[in-house]
Amino acid sequence: MLSCDVLIVGGGPAGSSCAWRLCQAGRHVVVMDRAAFPRDKTCGGWITPAVVEELELDLEAYAADRVLQPVLGLRTGRLGGRMLTTRYAQPVSYGIRRCEFDHYLLQRSGAQLELGQALTALERVGDVWQINGTWRTPLVIGAGGHYCPVARRLGADPPTTATAVLAQEVEFALTPEQEAQCRVEPEVAELYYCRDLAGYGWCFRKGRWLNVGLGRLDRHGLVHHVSEFCRTLQREGRIPVDLPQAFHGHAYWLYEHSPRWLVQDGAMLIGDAAGLAYTYSGEGIRPAVESGLMAAQTILDARGDYRAARLHPYEQQIRARFGTRRGVPPKNGRLRQTLTGLAARLLFSSAYLTQHLLVERWFLRAHEPPWRPRRGMCTTH
Ligand SMILES: Cc1cc2nc3c(=O)[nH]c(=O)nc-3n(C[C@H](O)[C@H](O)[C@H](O)COP(=O)(O)OP(=O)(O)OC[C@H]3O[C@@H](n4cnc5c(N)ncnc54)[C@H](O)[C@@H]3O)c2cc1C
Repeated sequence: MLSCDVLIVGGGPAGSSCAWRLCQAGRHVVVMDRAAFPRDKTCGGWITPAVVEELELDLEAYAADRVLQPVLGLRTGRLGGRMLTTRYAQPVSYGIRRCEFDHYLLQRSGAQLELGQALTALERVGDVWQINGTWRTPLVIGAGGHYCPVARRLGADPPTTATAVLAQEVEFALTPEQEAQCRVEPEVAELYYCRDLAGYGWCFRKGRWLNVGLGRLDRHGLVHHVSEFCRTLQREGRIPVDLPQAFHGHAYWLYEHSPRWLVQDGAMLIGDAAGLAYTYSGEGIRPAVESGLMAAQTILDARGDYRAARLHPYEQQIRARFGTRRGVPPKNGRLRQTLTGLAARLLFSSAYLTQHLLVERWFLRAHEPPWRPRRGMCTTH
């Protein structure tokens, strides 16, 4: 058997961020992922500037041979209704392609990579884990996304009516003719709320790549809503009539209603495995990165004692950062609960409310500075 200090299952943004910070502090970290990287991930590929800061990304170096689309504005409204555009002088977000972004972060992390290997066995022997009959480690991190095998093997989800977001997305390269005709500005991301406010669609251009998708809390109507969304965008000349690929779907939990545990003896969950995405926007990359960094801080502070009580500070930090979980979600989502018909009309027709509430507070979370490790955090052996 081989040994490592920490074994992380899942090499998405949560797993690679945690590994990066632990490797900086000299820990021997293994990241196991069932996929061979670069791999794609169903996602809009929108990251906020906080992610750039938290990961200390050198954007110039990143963009040298990868797609990085600065976003200088948002066009928002209800599907079929009047759209308002909020513009900024500086980038307020960036468009990335997940196949490139995740690969870059994982390579940069410094972890030993075990790719193309799914978790098949997880056994507790004394106070260590034996994984796939090959690895021994005192600490396993579940970073395997919504269907994380660590989350599921170490405790089925409790009975709950919590609904996950279900979203569908397609990303493809526009042909030169389509690019010339496309009415979506690369610097302006477009967000279209469903008329019943139970979800929203997006249309996001990253250079010659176009990403189109829609997510909702009620999964039954999803296919119908995606079709209606596409027909509307096609009528308006915003997406090509002949989409070259089929939509891919994926689920994930919003933080407030996630039923997932966070720590156990010798085990922690981060990112989508823990169900941390922001409730209003569905943004999940920033919570994945922040939880990965918070977990790393707790691990370093625990100095090799990984009983649940020693890992508890991670749970406290998550609560302090993301708030209290509320359990059962309101029918069809928070936005619908918050906005009655009249308030919704006011929000979508007011440039002031759109900018300050919808765009800056709910989507960009501009009021929340990037997460930083506490001063004096243990970063060496
Ligand atoms: C359609 C859609 C659009 C989205 N758009 C955005 C957006 O624009 N911006 C944003 O911030 N968030 C977005 N999100 C949410 C975001 O994609 C997730 O929150 C984010 O990817 C979570 O990162 P993670 O590292 O926790 O998990 P993931 O990125 O899902 O990574 C999990 C990793 O675990 C691996 N894995 C799974 N099972 C196993 C196993 N058995 N053994 C080993 N490895 C395993 C997988 O291969 C994968 O690499 C979107 C989600 C969806 C569904």
